[in-house]
Amino acid sequence: MNLEEDVEVVCPYCGAIFTTFVDTSAGGYATIEDCQVCCRPIELIVGCHAGVIDQVDTARA
Ligand SMILES: [Zn+2]
Repeated sequence: MNLEEDVEVVCPYCGAIFTTFVDTSAGGYATIEDCQVCCRPIELIVGCHAGVIDQVDTARA
């Protein structure tokens, strides 16, 4: 069973929309991911349960 889901996020710095992957197997978590356009670090706060993403918030890390 693949518990990795793709999600669109909006960069809080440059406004670019890009797709990243979320591992839903362990429930909600927070992580840092670099914007694929401007390369600045984005904090991703993921709310999820197995196979389903409830919400993803972004913040300037
Ligand atoms: Zn950006």
